[in-house]
Amino acid sequence: MKTFAVYLGTCSAYDPTGIAGLIRRALEVIPLSRPMTGRIVVKPNLVMAHPKIATESFTRKEVIEGILRTVAEKGAAVECVQLVEKSGLGVTTASMFRWAGYNTLAREYGVRLWAMEENPRVRVVLENGRIHRHVSVARPMAERDFLIFAPKLKTNVLTQGFSGALKLNVGTIDSRERLHHHDRDLPVKIVDLLGAADPDLIVTDGIRFAFGGNQMTQGGTDLGVVIVANDAVAHDMVAARLLNLDPLRIDHIREAVDRGYGPARPEQIRILGDYPVERAQAVTSRLDFGYMPVEKFPCNFRIRSGTPYCTGGCQGIFLDWLHMIRDRKPGVLGRFPRIPVLIGKVTDRVEAKRILLVGDCAAASPDLRAGRIVRIPGCPPTHKRIILSMMLRFFLIAPLVRPSLIWDGFVLYPVKWLKGRLVNLKFRPSRWFPIPDSGE
Ligand code: SF4
Repeated sequence: MKTFAVYLGTCSAYDPTGIAGLIRRALEVIPLSRPMTGRIVVKPNLVMAHPKIATESFTRKEVIEGILRTVAEKGAAVECVQLVEKSGLGVTTASMFRWAGYNTLAREYGVRLWAMEENPRVRVVLENGRIHRHVSVARPMAERDFLIFAPKLKTNVLTQGFSGALKLNVGTIDSRERLHHHDRDLPVKIVDLLGAADPDLIVTDGIRFAFGGNQMTQGGTDLGVVIVANDAVAHDMVAARLLNLDPLRIDHIREAVDRGYGPARPEQIRILGDYPVERAQAVTSRLDFGYMPVEKFPCNFRIRSGTPYCTGGCQGIFLDWLHMIRDRKPGVLGRFPRIPVLIGKVTDRVEAKRILLVGDCAAASPDLRAGRIVRIPGCPPTHKRIILSMMLRFFLIAPLVRPSLIWDGFVLYPVKWLKGRLVNLKFRPSRWFPIPDSGE
């Protein structure tokens, strides 16, 4: 039977030597289900990294370097190491690697950076999938012998304020599949993806904790912890406690437990290390994570939430956009027009000169009386579409609208995407991979 162990190590600086030492000490007391050998994949959180406006919300390169040093100690038993990622918001993963400083690491340690959208992908079958029966993942992910997740300890309003190891799985699939059922079913989807990528080791960057606001543009504070764990669910249960959250009230953790992943109860986890849970709790108890009903967000919009309420879909994504404005351009909030914004299907009559409808369900609201109706379609609409629509229709310019990101998202990304399509022509029809078992 598996022993669930989570090591909390004190680490107050982004020092790769100190981080490598911490991981080494953790691995002396944490039992792994399989040896750290062969083809190793490291999956960081690089949803977005940008030197000006996304500075806190990604896994810092020093933590990755600590991992790479630990792996290097295995010597010839390690065949190769690949860092695999698919960033969010329709920007290129290659630029995120560069802005996060991973290119230097790749050169120094001889590892390959694998941007999923422009490289070979394979389809894997999810035998226990409820939403996804199969998904496309990066080829190294399917061919791996050992998988290391390197999440950022952060908040995310799309997943009830908490983002840890399980949520990292959304970044293992491509954009089209990522949006499929990215709605109220997001917890089910996240757990489905464990069938493709259940990490053997988790090393989390909690040296600075990214909190509140938008999952990309949020700020951060010192927390001084690196978490090392041998199970994603156990990791998330302990990480949630650090944030003063009840892990079993976070839907995707609950879903994982109900489906037999990880420990059934927090008491089954051995918590090790020199960092007291209470130290993190004392810091995080003072912080606002920004997770709230979208209609409660203070702004000029008269937001009405109909049905369904999709924390992982329209309501959550629009709340995330509102936070993005508040995080980095709070002055824009004062320019919001005083108009009704409907999210989800609203059944009673709504009358106004202008109405904004966010998502396909809002467009099904039956009794709208307005001179002009502005629609942002999608189930859910992407961040990119919301940013673009709000800019073009209301002249509300989000902080991510910058020349570097416009070039990246609207010029480079289509080129990379096309390259990925061409590269995958020869892989797509025939490559179906079994996924390594859990090794238990
Ligand atoms: S359109 Fe929006 S509110 Fe409706 S199901 Fe999709 S994500 Fe949920």
